[in-house]
Amino acid sequence: MLPVIERQPEVAPRNKKEGGTAVPSGNNGGHVGQPHSGVAERPKSSLYQNVGVQFNRAADVMNLDPDVRRILGATKNEIVVNFPVKMANGHVEMFTGYRVQHNDALGPFKGGLRFHPDVDLDEVRALAAWMTWKCAIAGIPFGGAKGGIQFDPAKYSEAELERITRRFAFALGENIGPEYDIPAPDVNTNAQIMAWILDTYASTVPSHERQRNIHVVTGKPVEAGGSVGRDKATGQGVVFTIQEWTHDHKIDVAGLTFSVQGFGNVGSWTARLLTQLGAKLVAVEDVTGGVRNENGIDPDDLLRFARVHGGVMKYPRGDFVDHIMFMKTPVDVFIPAAMENQITAESAQWLQVRLVAEGANGPTNPEGDAVLQRRGIDLIPDILCNAGGVIVSYYEWLQNKRSEFWELEEVDRKLHKRIKAAYGRVRDTAAELGVDWRTAAYVIALSRLETVYKERGIFP
Ligand code: NAD
Repeated sequence: MLPVIERQPEVAPRNKKEGGTAVPSGNNGGHVGQPHSGVAERPKSSLYQNVGVQFNRAADVMNLDPDVRRILGATKNEIVVNFPVKMANGHVEMFTGYRVQHNDALGPFKGGLRFHPDVDLDEVRALAAWMTWKCAIAGIPFGGAKGGIQFDPAKYSEAELERITRRFAFALGENIGPEYDIPAPDVNTNAQIMAWILDTYASTVPSHERQRNIHVVTGKPVEAGGSVGRDKATGQGVVFTIQEWTHDHKIDVAGLTFSVQGFGNVGSWTARLLTQLGAKLVAVEDVTGGVRNENGIDPDDLLRFARVHGGVMKYPRGDFVDHIMFMKTPVDVFIPAAMENQITAESAQWLQVRLVAEGANGPTNPEGDAVLQRRGIDLIPDILCNAGGVIVSYYEWLQNKRSEFWELEEVDRKLHKRIKAAYGRVRDTAAELGVDWRTAAYVIALSRLETVYKERGIFP
């Protein structure tokens, strides 16, 4: 495949289903399936290279079919849109947005949208590939995609944010769609953003189709067609997997201590739900700083404080800690629920924990993984641990298609059953093959995809 970028016109062509390939960006372009050599610390961890290391390790372990390896080692479509938005001061600002569609062998592309200054093609490719594996492990009929806009939403008014979001959705055109590619919230995006995307998308299709498009996004406000339980779903899934781990280790959840990095959707819900089971939250870090209290932090109180003060920094019922002190806090479970590449060869040495439960995507790089394994620290990998979000997104999508509305109890029960089964498969595969849990999770995902490719064959 040629290393060329597909740069879409501002309004993308309708019915585009094929095309985008790779782009040179200081790594392997859109291809991850290249031979790798060891895990010596690299100067800057390219996220997509991290995926390549993980992918290759699992592909080697399971002896993945070389043709399937080539297919899954590349992203399917890469969409880059530059679009203008009128600001409050009357001037126009240009924005760059991305949507990478990694694979759709198992169903429509699915994955979140992120608004962050660090969003780039490398990051979005990695996040899209992780979505492919995640959906395959969870056994839901979706492929993998991810997208976002490279900007800091905190610097814009709500009205500007709405215009940026709507213009991005318009620029993506039919590169998204309810049966084709379904976005959801991620870092710095939420139910309100999803409602604006839904409204923009519905406004651009013929009027008789409008009501049939509500499932173009998931993670919507409940009133606008969202599912109850979606807001907390990722955190709930993280907690369900931790409960499975405590069950396996004959540990009482109520006696656990834990720390959380990131206090947004995933981090705050995980902390609240785990505390409700009797576990003790000892330390929290967000983008503003860290806070620690050995006697326990009330996550509901902290959330109220963070909403008023813009973060957890200066929370009065705890002591300020810097990043290294936060990471060195002794707890049973560390839950990274913020950004990527937080656990590296260096920081993995700082952790004094028994378990890392990856609420975030890609928080541990391959060098960090190696250190955790050497130190005997258990790890529930992201593509299993945070799958609760996409699982309940699938339930939202199903409810929309069937014009149904499920009760919270039904959503939670189905999520629990599905993520518990996925956890069991990863645990058993790791034991059977004698590999780490991340590799085991990949083997499950890649086996499922390999089977589908063998059954369906390659057109023509
Ligand atoms: P969010 O925007 O709601 O919260 C992000 C949090 O991370 C904020 O508290 C922010 O202050 C903190 N943060 C940012 N940079 C930081 C840094 N350098 N150090 C410490 N904290 C920092 O985002 P979210 O939806 O909770 O997503 C968090 C992670 O979980 C991401 O990796 C995301 O991809 C992953 N995830 C989210 C979902 C979902 O449903 N929202 C599902 C699966 C995975």
